[in-house]
Parts: sequence; structure tokens; C-alpha cells
Amino acid sequence: MQRQQTIIEESLKAIMEDEDFLPDLKAQTREQAYNSLVALLSTPNHIHKSFLRITTENGTIVRIPSFRVQHSDTVGPYKGGIRFHESVDEDEVSNLAKLMTLKNALHELPFGGGKGGVVINPKEYSIKELNLICKKYVQYFNDILGPDKDIPAPDVGTGEREMDWMMGEFKNIHPGEPYRNSFTGKSIVNGGSLGRREATGKGVYYTFRYMLHDFVNEHKKWLADTENTFAHTALDHAGKKLKVAVQGFGNLGSVAALEAYQCNHLQNRVVAVSDANVMLYHSDGLDIPGLVQFAKEHDGDLPSTEEDLNEHELVAEIKNRDDLLEMDVDVLILAALEDQIHKDNMKNIQAKIIVEGANGPITEEADRYLADKGVLIVPDILANAGGVIVSYYEWVQGREAQFMTEDQVFERLFDKLKGTMDTILPQFFGDPFPLRQNCYIHSVTKLSTIMYRQGKLY
Ligand code: NAD
Repeated sequence: MQRQQTIIEESLKAIMEDEDFLPDLKAQTREQAYNSLVALLSTPNHIHKSFLRITTENGTIVRIPSFRVQHSDTVGPYKGGIRFHESVDEDEVSNLAKLMTLKNALHELPFGGGKGGVVINPKEYSIKELNLICKKYVQYFNDILGPDKDIPAPDVGTGEREMDWMMGEFKNIHPGEPYRNSFTGKSIVNGGSLGRREATGKGVYYTFRYMLHDFVNEHKKWLADTENTFAHTALDHAGKKLKVAVQGFGNLGSVAALEAYQCNHLQNRVVAVSDANVMLYHSDGLDIPGLVQFAKEHDGDLPSTEEDLNEHELVAEIKNRDDLLEMDVDVLILAALEDQIHKDNMKNIQAKIIVEGANGPITEEADRYLADKGVLIVPDILANAGGVIVSYYEWVQGREAQFMTEDQVFERLFDKLKGTMDTILPQFFGDPFPLRQNCYIHSVTKLSTIMYRQGKLY
């Protein structure tokens, strides 16, 4: 995620060159402010690390490294998910925390940025052990968490079950104090919001659809008249039959694939999906509802053998997992992990539109290469904010003890994403910067202005 740092610095340079931005800052003071902002945005406020002491069911004591990184609370309490994955490390959590600060600022949410991580493969632990790990996480980080301090949510390897356990432990440690908003992404019965589970996947698909359908239709003539390469990529694909591939079939990927399959606005054919084990392909389009049902019944996994497919009357060719990225498709939705498109496969990517559901799925080098080729990349910071937006609604609903219907939640979610895109897209299609850079410029401008007003740049 070196790219993130580079883009922050480039964005800061661009806004500081604009004399209308913080006009009171002149010459040397302006340079000092720039240096202060680079320092403030590049480094987290706090990195908390603990080794959780767990007694496993067979009596062995293990110490599990775990993190909570609090990047910035300039705009509000720290907010970001907790990831359970064996590749978690301090750098990864810090970068994801930074991305949360920028994402929350972009979408005008009253939160700062944080992230947590526990270095485990959750599939290797029993339910009882996972419950203990969740409780210990809250015990060890108890001092820094809370409804107005730092509010975690699910991420890879965690879900509503873990959030329920963690909130339960927070409640035990703080009797008589407000606890409901200490975690979001909880189950509905435990104070969660309707629609939270589907929010990220729906939001990912919505951003793509809004850009390629609603926005393009409304601004067709203007887009055709600009010389912006990305405007032409969008126009070339609008109104056409689109072949779509989705990498990752978990919480995010399965929902985004289903949205693409069911969409009435665009003529999609979801021809390929993959998970950690397999890629499934069908040139006429896959039966996505059937695959979602299969995954629901099989611990989230796609069918990976001919027997699995036949038994469930699913028609697909089984292919090599990683070939999905290089397939002849129009749209690639990345919904698995980081760094999936990199220098070794970037030249083979055929999709002209890539939607980043996952955080950081394209390396810096590949990002630049693809952007130079006119590939329209809808970046993570814009596309995958649905989860944190509905987490915000969950937090508000918990405070007010008033709950919205699922339709109201999705209506507000789409309105919020539309608001962000209506701010960013005209600027993006009107200038030569890729969409990611436009989003960063917007976030960094907002954060810099607030820091200046809070007197943090002296
Ligand atoms: P998940 O654990 O539910 O699903 C991950 C999926 O990716 C699984 O189907 C897994 O089998 C698959 N996978 C893993 N390695 C793969 C590989 N090499 N090739 C193909 N598939 C592979 O996780 P999720 O919640 O769906 O999150 C996915 C990504 O989206 C992560 O980067 C996460 O940070 C990001 N994200 C998630 C949310 C959310 O609310 N869930 C919000 C924002 C961002």
C-alpha cells in the first residue's frame, strides 16, 4: 500500500498549489502546513498491540498477536473493522486504518479511521476458542474502545457473531454504561441494523451501476465531448451487454454478484466467479442465486467438483481460480483480498472496468499501468463504503433506539453514495486524474481544512 502514501502526498501537493485553498497560509507557513499534513496523515495516532493469552480446548496455552490501530480522530471517533486472518500484521492494519480515515472523510461520515486485526486462521479454531479470542480482544483493548472512542465492525474472517460476542463482553466490563454502540455489524436481534450484511456488496454494485447507467445517461453529450479517456471507456460500455467476473464469493462478492445478476438497469451476464478454492465459468452466465444457495449451505464455499455441481443441478465449467482475473470480460469486480492484480498479471487483464470491492486489490504499479491504458478503476475508497455507511446508521439507530426498515436503510445508503458520486464524478470526467486520485483529493482537502480549523497545523 505504498501507493496510498504516494497518492496522499500527490493530493496534498495538488491542493496546496491551489491558492484558494486555505488562503491565509502563505509562503513558509504554507510549506510548514504541507509538511505537518503529510506527517499527520501518514502516521497513525496510536498503534496498540497485544498477545491474547488463550487456553485452547486441548489445554494448550497460545499467545495470539492482535492489533488495534487508531489512525485519526480528526472527524470523530475511530471506526473500522477487525480482521481475523493469518496474514495480518502491523503494517497491513495501519494502512487499512489510514484508508478508513480517508474513506469516512470522502463519504462525509462523522468518524475517524481505525482498524483491528488478529493473526489467526479462524477455520483452525473451534467456536468456543473463537468466542474466547473475541472476549480477550475486548478485555485487552478495553481502555481504548467505546461508543464514542473507537467502534469496531466486522472485516475478513469476522461477522455478526463475533460482533455480538464482543459487544457482550464490553457490556460485562462496563455495567450500567452505554454499550450498544460499542460495536457495529451486530445481529439484528442484538441491536444491529437491517441491511448491514448486504450493505457493502450492494454498495459496490450500486456505485458501478450509478456511474455506468444513471450518471452516463444524464451526461451523455458532455461525456462524448470531453477528451477524457475514462469518459470514453464509460460511454463505450454503457447500454451494452456486459460480461462480468467476480473474484471472491464471501459476504461482499456473493452479494455483488447477485446484484449484477438481478440488475434491471444494465444487461449483465455474470460469466465467472471464484473463491479461495475454485473458479466457475459459463459463457451464457452462471446461475448466481443457485450458487449463493450452495455457498450458504456449505460454509461459504462454491461447488468445486463435478459431483457438487450435478447434485445441485448447477451448470458450470470448473477452472483454475486465478485465471478469472485474465478472462475476456468487460467488468471485473474484485471482492477477495489485497494485491490481486500486480506486475506479473497486469498486462493480461482484459476488463476495461474494474470495481474494487476489496481493499487495495491492485498494486501501485498495476494501478498506474491500467489507468494509462484507459481502464476505468472504481477504487475501494469510493466503491466499498456501504458497510461503514450502514454501520453509521446502526450507530445512530442504537443511540436513538429507533430502527429503520430494510428499504429505508438501502434508500439512505444509495442516496449517500449518490451524493458522493455526484460530487466526485463531474470532477473526475472533467480532468486527467484517475478516479482514485480525485477521491483522495476530496478527502485530503476535507481533512486538511478540519485540521487547520482545529489548530493542528501549527
Ligand atoms: P469474506 O471472508 O466473507 O470473503 C472473502 C472471499 O474471498 C471468500 O469467498 C474467499 O474464499 C475468497 N478468496 C480468498 N482468497 C481468494 C483468492 N485468492 N481468489 C479468489 N477468491 C479468494 O470477506 P468479505 O467480507 O467478503 O471481504 C472481502 C474484501 O472486501 C476484503 O478485502 C475486505 O477488507 C473488503 N471489505 C469488506 C467489507 C465488508 O463489510 N464485508 C467492507 C469493506 C471492505
